[in-house]
Amino acid sequence: MSTAPEASTASRYQPPSIAGDYTALTDKQAQLLAIASDLGRNKFAPRAGQIDRDAVFPFENYADMHAAGLLRICVPEQYGGWGADFATYVMTAAEIGRHCGATALTLNMHVSSTMWTGFIADDLDMTPEQRASHEQHRAMHYKRIVEEGKVYSQPFSEGGAAAAGKAPFGTLARKVDGGYIVNGRKIFASLAGAADYYGVLCTLDKPGATQRDALYLAVDRNLPGVTVSGDWDPLGMRGTVSRNLLFEDVFVPEAERLMPEGMYAQAALRWPHMFATLSPTYMGIAQAAYDFTVQYLRAEVPGMPPVKRRMYPTKQIAVAEMKVKLEQTRAIFLQNARAARVDPSKEIRLGLLAAHYTIMENANDICRLAVRTCGGQSMLKTLPLERMYRDSRCGSLMLPWTAELCIDRLGRECLYEAGERDEPDVL
Ligand SMILES: Cc1cc2nc3c(=O)[nH]c(=O)nc-3n(C[C@H](O)[C@H](O)[C@H](O)COP(=O)(O)OP(=O)(O)OC[C@H]3O[C@@H](n4cnc5c(N)ncnc54)[C@H](O)[C@@H]3O)c2cc1C
Repeated sequence: MSTAPEASTASRYQPPSIAGDYTALTDKQAQLLAIASDLGRNKFAPRAGQIDRDAVFPFENYADMHAAGLLRICVPEQYGGWGADFATYVMTAAEIGRHCGATALTLNMHVSSTMWTGFIADDLDMTPEQRASHEQHRAMHYKRIVEEGKVYSQPFSEGGAAAAGKAPFGTLARKVDGGYIVNGRKIFASLAGAADYYGVLCTLDKPGATQRDALYLAVDRNLPGVTVSGDWDPLGMRGTVSRNLLFEDVFVPEAERLMPEGMYAQAALRWPHMFATLSPTYMGIAQAAYDFTVQYLRAEVPGMPPVKRRMYPTKQIAVAEMKVKLEQTRAIFLQNARAARVDPSKEIRLGLLAAHYTIMENANDICRLAVRTCGGQSMLKTLPLERMYRDSRCGSLMLPWTAELCIDRLGRECLYEAGERDEPDVL
């Protein structure tokens, strides 16, 4: 190893924009990315190690995001939000993911609640009565977020086939006077015990209910019958605190319905990008692992001895390989972000699955290459790379679009057009 004098600030590696320098950003996008970058570098990154070590929820980061207006990023402008579109949100989320994966991933659960009820709901077919009641309900939810900094989560996983979209949710909502009685159990509920409202996906309790009868309700965490259970000591994404939630005869007022009955199923069919908001976090982690590697090999990681490693051809080859993967990932990330719309074509749907898969898998692969090429000291717990490596492994496990399910669907949908099948009918 050769030692070098302290590099001057001017010649230090400058981590690029998550959106790539070539992308024309709108004023709103540039503004939000600047806010996310400032908070991420100065507040979230310094706290990320402790949050990971203790597996605790990043409350301080949420206070900062509320103060900076990020909790209302996808709240429509007429309700006091930024009114960010899909592309604007995912770029901002990726920027946060560079600095603290758990903060970006949990923010996604919150923001999705506002996105699904916001511009996605605007694109869905509703009767005038449904539209009117939706406006009334969402005004209340947005007021809580904008004025009080309330946080929403999105527990839909149950440990069965429902979260993969293959069966109705087992959590049931029975209609009663003025609302619903909810019973059921959710697993892996990020923000358990931390969110103010759990945005629970459940099934309207009626004979012959199908996936079309899915309901989306905001459940106040303090309601009688709501309990958090289970340990939380996972491999990665430890700050998400994704424990279990139990709902036992919980009365949920009708006004807490986040979407009109039947609307979640319509959204899932017509706005598939709604499920692709988990991958931006991992785009951010991929960029962060690359940034770390360049800084490490250039001897620019704060607190590390000034030992350069960049002059070895094997290191240069490894970084080149990482850069190729990173640029492939960014390109497909940005393309997918711009393609988001209601009723996308088959090509856009397939491209979306390919993008989601690529981002999740490449993030982990870029982290793997980073650890291998930086070497032993780089994976000590005093440095962030080993956390990125662990966090990055969690992406492609997340339903409904795990890496396996993306490949499953892609393989089938590439070879079959709607209505085509080869299997004989089963009697
Ligand atoms: C850090 C983290 C945070 C999370 N936060 C949330 C959250 O906030 N809300 C939430 O609802 N969930 C959350 N989840 C849960 C996540 O989305 C999955 O539901 C969970 O990881 C599934 O775990 P499982 O072992 O039950 O998977 P299983 O359902 O047992 O699936 C295991 C694997 O089998 C494959 N598989 C599953 N079903 C099928 C099928 N029908 N056909 C073919 N293959 C299939 C998939 O590839 C899957 O990876 C989180 C998970 C993690 C890791």
